[in-house]
Amino acid sequence: MNKESNSVYKSTCCYCGVGCGVKISVEKNQLISVTGDTEHPVNQGKLCSKGMNLQYTVNDRSDRLLYPQMRHHRSSPLQRVSWDEALDRAEAVFRTLIAKYGPDTVAFYASGQCLTEEYYILNKLVKGFIGTNNIDTNSRLCMSSAVAAYKKTLGEDSVPICYDDIELADCFLVEGANPAWCHPILWRRIEAHKAKNPRTKIIVVDPRITDTCALADLHLQINPGTDIVLNYAIGRLLIEQGDIDLGFINDHTEGYEVYKERVFERTLLESAVICGVPAEDIERAASYIGESKGFLSLWTMGLNQSVVGVNKNLSLIDLNLITGKIGKLGSGPFSLTGQPNAMGGREVGGLANLLPAHRDIDNKKHRDELQQFWSGTTLSGKPGLTATEMFEALADGRLKAIWIICTNPLTSLPNARLVEKALQMAKFVVVQEISNKPQTLDFADIILPAAGWAEKEGTMTNSERRISHLHKAISPPGEALPDAEIFSRFAQKMGFKGFSYPTPEDIYKEHAQLTSGTSIDISGLDYTLIDSLQTVQWPFDLKKKQGTTRLFQDKEFLTPSGRAQLHSPPDQHYSELPDQNFPLILTTGRIRDQWHTMSKTGKVSKLNQHIQAAFLEVHPNDAATLNLADGQLANVYSIRGEVRVRTRVSKTIKPGVVFLPMHWGKLLGSDLHRANNLTNDLVDPISKEPDFKFCAVRVEAHVKK
Ligand code: SF4
Repeated sequence: MNKESNSVYKSTCCYCGVGCGVKISVEKNQLISVTGDTEHPVNQGKLCSKGMNLQYTVNDRSDRLLYPQMRHHRSSPLQRVSWDEALDRAEAVFRTLIAKYGPDTVAFYASGQCLTEEYYILNKLVKGFIGTNNIDTNSRLCMSSAVAAYKKTLGEDSVPICYDDIELADCFLVEGANPAWCHPILWRRIEAHKAKNPRTKIIVVDPRITDTCALADLHLQINPGTDIVLNYAIGRLLIEQGDIDLGFINDHTEGYEVYKERVFERTLLESAVICGVPAEDIERAASYIGESKGFLSLWTMGLNQSVVGVNKNLSLIDLNLITGKIGKLGSGPFSLTGQPNAMGGREVGGLANLLPAHRDIDNKKHRDELQQFWSGTTLSGKPGLTATEMFEALADGRLKAIWIICTNPLTSLPNARLVEKALQMAKFVVVQEISNKPQTLDFADIILPAAGWAEKEGTMTNSERRISHLHKAISPPGEALPDAEIFSRFAQKMGFKGFSYPTPEDIYKEHAQLTSGTSIDISGLDYTLIDSLQTVQWPFDLKKKQGTTRLFQDKEFLTPSGRAQLHSPPDQHYSELPDQNFPLILTTGRIRDQWHTMSKTGKVSKLNQHIQAAFLEVHPNDAATLNLADGQLANVYSIRGEVRVRTRVSKTIKPGVVFLPMHWGKLLGSDLHRANNLTNDLVDPISKEPDFKFCAVRVEAHVKK
């Protein structure tokens, strides 16, 4: 049983996509402890610093929103109101705007931290009843490039591997990721595997020397944006060395001849110069991969958050395809999910271009199936606005109202000044939140207090397609409600039928029913079954009562031809290049002990001790040129804005490149720590994921006036 006694509940850590199992001990509606679940297949009892401190985050309710609030005009103060008053007003405004301007003038912006049930019901409400596809989430900033690349190569957004492949692999290519800090428990598993099997090779590709590099046999410190050139150079060498699987290529893929032509366009030397790494190191990487029996390619934001994020993903997945190292023990492409339930959101179609159970918006048959199933309105075939597009549309008046759920766009979206302008221009803003800290609240016409982690029930899916059931352990504070309950009440106010769910499990069962006959089939799965099996990896075989550990073992891919597709896009990138005025490249990223915009982890003093303030990492050569000392206050400028932080002069970054952590927003009235003052509006043309890892900046010592 998952509820072990009156006071111990099983759940899953709410931070990263690793999905570690936890046990929550409760007394008097307070968490006494959160410990790693020793029986959980993902973490076997281990937790990283963030997971270990979850109880402090939950128990500190000093910042919690306790009741709905509303202001009658933008300039009037917020006033406490009842749930009915708040939702009646939201209903009246949304109904009026939709009637006057059409459904595409309202939008909902949610989060990869929402539970699957919440994602499902919101998606049903927006696409199936309001009649717009304007629902997107902050997973757009995180995984959308991987989603698009999986679809292009494998036919659907299907992560093929399982974590148990780690112990079966003898070569890891970690590209654009720092799992030692951002996916720590998974990384410890790789560390343990390497300790037992020292011949296992680890290649890390990153413009920075991170903690992940400590375990690497080879670190390719490439120039930012050159991943495709590197991957093609490795591909060329694998072909030249004869380390490809021609049988697999011939029988199970399409596009090899074009791929071969593409990778032979550049010589090894040319590629090495573009990437800024020695040619011998690229040769070593290719040998490690070529000689391996089990090859896992791991990646995350360094590839995804790019103006060519999809192409970077494709060029990496190509390496698994040409070597036939997919659908086999210890092999496959393995995208590390950033958020705890980005995967669950993808299952229910919770992005502006997706429909539930891997159905497509541009497929009329799929839209009709959903209309029939939901008994709602005709689904629109027009893709909705994505995260950044929503705020652009607010800024220019195309979008009138936005409902923001469990995310903090003023800190996390690129070009923060534009986001501020967008929220100022919006006719109506609803913010559904747990904390009174996010700056978005300043722009809200209505604030709805939501229940947080451990205060509600539902499911999440981790990076290896593993579904887990999160039990409610404590009651939310004040009048806060679970997000699913808020959506359900709003839908009923709008007069929509089919939103009266007695329990979250009823929502889950409806979602499961919709997956029947699809590649992610979990039909028949309910909470009792998940609990009895502990966790389940989709797709699920109801007869055998068994999930699926590894996909594509039969080499039948989900493309129309059944063959995986090799893609060979050009290796250029189209980022904002440095020039005379802005001569350095800025890249942004995470630090070990903070999560997103710090509304949870920032409350825990132990976590704040690791790194206490935002900083600018700068190479000693650049620091010398700029006359900057370590720890000195510096101003960083891009064409869009300014940041003022202290420097960390370090050889961990490449000359010509500077790094800022992305977590800090507005502090004590100043937003000069916010990295996104500087980042740009460019997005990948397919995935619409922003180019967070590359923009042109200038750095100057700060002079006190
Ligand atoms: Fe939580 Fe991720 Fe740490 Fe596991 S690795 S405890 S899921 S933050």
